[in-house]
Amino acid sequence: MTSAAMRESDTRSFDPDALREKYRIERDKRIRADGNDQYVEVSGDFSHYVDDPYITPGLTRESITRDVEVVIIGGGFGGMLAAARLQEAGITDFTLIEKGGGFGGTWYWNRYPGASCDIEAYVYLPLLEETGFIPQQKYTNAEETLEYCEVLAQRYGLHEHALLQTQVKKVVWQESSRRWQVTTDRGDVLHARFVIHSNGPLNRPKLPGIKGIDQFKGHTFHTSRWDYAYTGGNTFGGLSQLSDKRVAVIGTGATAVQCVPHLAESAKALYVFQRTPSSIDVRNNQPTDPNWISQQPAGWQKRRQTNFESIMSGAPVKEDLVGDGWTEAFRNLFGSIGELMPSKARLAMWAVQGVFSSKRRERGLRQYLTDRAIQYMGLIQKMEMADFNKMEKVRARADELIADKLTAESLKPYYRQFCKRPCFHDEYLQSFNRDNVTLVDTDGQGVEAFTEKGVVFNGDEYEVDCIIFATGFEVGTDYSRRAGYSIAGVDGLTVSEKWQDGMATFHGLQARGFPNSFFFGPMQSGFTAAFTYALDENSIHAAYIIDQLNKRGVTRVEASEKAEAGWVKTVIQKARLTEDFQKACTPGYYNNEGHVQFQPQNTFYGGGPIEFFALMRKWRRKGTLKGLELRR
Ligand code: NDP
Repeated sequence: MTSAAMRESDTRSFDPDALREKYRIERDKRIRADGNDQYVEVSGDFSHYVDDPYITPGLTRESITRDVEVVIIGGGFGGMLAAARLQEAGITDFTLIEKGGGFGGTWYWNRYPGASCDIEAYVYLPLLEETGFIPQQKYTNAEETLEYCEVLAQRYGLHEHALLQTQVKKVVWQESSRRWQVTTDRGDVLHARFVIHSNGPLNRPKLPGIKGIDQFKGHTFHTSRWDYAYTGGNTFGGLSQLSDKRVAVIGTGATAVQCVPHLAESAKALYVFQRTPSSIDVRNNQPTDPNWISQQPAGWQKRRQTNFESIMSGAPVKEDLVGDGWTEAFRNLFGSIGELMPSKARLAMWAVQGVFSSKRRERGLRQYLTDRAIQYMGLIQKMEMADFNKMEKVRARADELIADKLTAESLKPYYRQFCKRPCFHDEYLQSFNRDNVTLVDTDGQGVEAFTEKGVVFNGDEYEVDCIIFATGFEVGTDYSRRAGYSIAGVDGLTVSEKWQDGMATFHGLQARGFPNSFFFGPMQSGFTAAFTYALDENSIHAAYIIDQLNKRGVTRVEASEKAEAGWVKTVIQKARLTEDFQKACTPGYYNNEGHVQFQPQNTFYGGGPIEFFALMRKWRRKGTLKGLELRR
């Protein structure tokens, strides 16, 4: 334990057993047998929830038939990075297909008031050194992020490669030509040697499947399709048309935390329906010092990104370059992880003790493993104490900032900090001090029903003019349903069939039965707090493989059965390290709505992103493409 962590736990003012019990009670009351099925699919009568509010409808264009080396599906950061890294590898024959009217992906859709990124911009926005772009603040906002996406599009000439406002419908493998046939809703037919699927892990909005959801006669929309024509204002707020409106917000996740302060400021009355409170820590945004950025040595951004993700993974670093709420939380948790790392001195000592030599090896190793197990258990306990301490501070913040004691109590999160996405905001909690704002605490149960006039909880009907769903996005559902298109691989095997009993991939990127394909996403891959970091690493990896295949005259590449099975086994083994933690967590999309053991391979690589991407780099350095079946 570090001396700082020791001091904290020595001065603690909480009872760990009581907190553990409280966390368990709060979790148990939220666990539901229906898990992901509690949500209705946004299709059929609900499909208007995903209409694009940012375009002028009516675009027409001729259908395109084209042979192309690579089709990239998705124009978010993943698709843009893939295009950038392909070009760096000399691959310029690609077409990028995007359903939105512009680049940006999640940032194209999520323009709700207050939308911004709470990962530091110097880490989150990729390729800053390549573009020379200087974010205005430590934490960028939606407008600047979209502006930056356009900077990237210009820098890498993406417009000339893109089919915007175009939705992929089907992707079908054709063995005879060794190409994928990609068809779209505009009648396009593309034949591609490779397909990169970068369709976004949080792409498909979800709605609660609650009685009466189709009955409400007022106005409704999902936060990812904000209706400024109804509310007035823009992503910075000023929702002037709500001054005579009663508004309900369903959900209190990271999105609600950012838009509620603006709704509170503008609406005549605001009802926030809460099932589980988010943890809200200090944000403290700051303007960028342009001198600081201009004085950074070459390679600074990669170093900063790696430093950030290393701290997030508990890997030892010499200094914390980012120094914000995220890194503080993780330093706090992993403060003593260095104790588990075999130092040179310790290795030397083990050598002397015979840990690595002949007959004494077995005894030495047994002792070493016992020592490590004891150390590990000790570390787990220390991390739990650090977590309790941190969450006590988060809960105390609610008491400090909220006048009404009952409301403050309702807004306190009772779970381990990383059970849900931590939030950082300096105005959200204070919104509940306003007379026009009511927190409806559903005590873990969620809203009961919708009526023609409003929202029901606990038998009370709250009459409103508008309901805004801040209920997040599908995560654990069928891949094709989320992507919005079907994929049929070798012998017509669909991706839904392939993964119906759980995901199977090689390195999270390639899947047997789907040759010449790359799937970008966190599952079975490195899960990073700054998702753009993972997308860039995946892009570099995909570009490397395609380049190697071209150089070797290979026209077909597929993960081998053995490599895929081995990777799934690795993912499951690594997932066991976090299984107890996830099981004890309040339900949410991080732990498959509390159903942790269902398809245990449907998770990210449990060794952390730094370990994962080092493994990928090592694989590339070897240059043997081990685990892939190659055909010329
Ligand atoms: P979330 O899935 O995080 O939140 C959905 C919310 O809806 C939860 O509070 C959930 O409650 C609530 N909910 C669901 N059903 C009901 C119901 N029947 N009654 C009442 N409440 C209900 O979605 P978000 O859009 O908030 O965030 C999604 C992700 O987007 C984040 O986790 C983050 O990764 C990303 N994001 C990042 C931001 C950034 O700064 N970089 C900002 C915003 C989003 P419960 O918790 O009980 O399930």
